[in-house]
Amino acid sequence: MARRQKIICRLCHDIIEVDTASKICELCRITIFQTDEIVEAYSTGQVEDQIRNFIPEIEFTFERDHMVSRYFNTAWELIQKSFTDYVGIPVPQREIEELKRWNPDEVRRIFDVLRFAKVAHLEGELVKLNSMAERIVEILPTGEPFSSPAVKGAFGEMRGSICIALAQPLLDTDSRPRRPRNFLVNFNHLSNILSRHEPFGMATGPISKVVDSEEFFIPIVGKRYPVQIGQKQMIKILQDHFGWRGESKIIEAFKGPPYKYVLKDVTLVYLERMRERWRERPRER
Ligand SMILES: [Zn+2]
Repeated sequence: MARRQKIICRLCHDIIEVDTASKICELCRITIFQTDEIVEAYSTGQVEDQIRNFIPEIEFTFERDHMVSRYFNTAWELIQKSFTDYVGIPVPQREIEELKRWNPDEVRRIFDVLRFAKVAHLEGELVKLNSMAERIVEILPTGEPFSSPAVKGAFGEMRGSICIALAQPLLDTDSRPRRPRNFLVNFNHLSNILSRHEPFGMATGPISKVVDSEEFFIPIVGKRYPVQIGQKQMIKILQDHFGWRGESKIIEAFKGPPYKYVLKDVTLVYLERMRERWRERPRER
């Protein structure tokens, strides 16, 4: 029986009562559950629409986080080359622009993460795609113009699923080189909503489309920012939510005071599906 005590969660670094065996708080545990469920869906090729339609909402989470953007940029460049210049064949490492920015030790670390994420591995000078990247390449419809809604949607899903694939090893291993903080903040917001509703928490009935800022956005009421992110990173996350770079993500409107967020329909449907999947999961995982 694991003892419970106040301790620092090894993922979000919040001081919270955690299971002393795993040193992971409740919100991070729900975030890992969501990540594992999505990765499993993509690796088996059976992605339900409730999940697929939500994935483009998190496509910014790695690119906008300078500590982990190198993993995303390498994977995204590799996947782009795999449907343009190197269809069905390995990509020479020297052709990947992102890798030219990093020293050999860092390049090795990037390939460690890509290999654990089942995105790609290095064989000599050649980069070969692994199962997760092959699934992601297949998302792109063939024969459609790049400006069509189908291709635009596919790009969002491809970028979002790369984030999910890369997040899994970074959240899960003790030797992870860096925490994906932007990803963690966004998913812990979703986990915060889930944690209040059964089967995670006490609230029954459907999740409301309009949520209080403290239900969605922990930092406003928290004593400090979660995941120890700085003001600059927090501003980037707000810009992405509110669509100051184009289209809003995860939420569709912001009201107040008193401050409330209106979740997008795709977010709401996704959260309800995650509640069901939690109920459906085998007891011991
Ligand atoms: Zn945590």
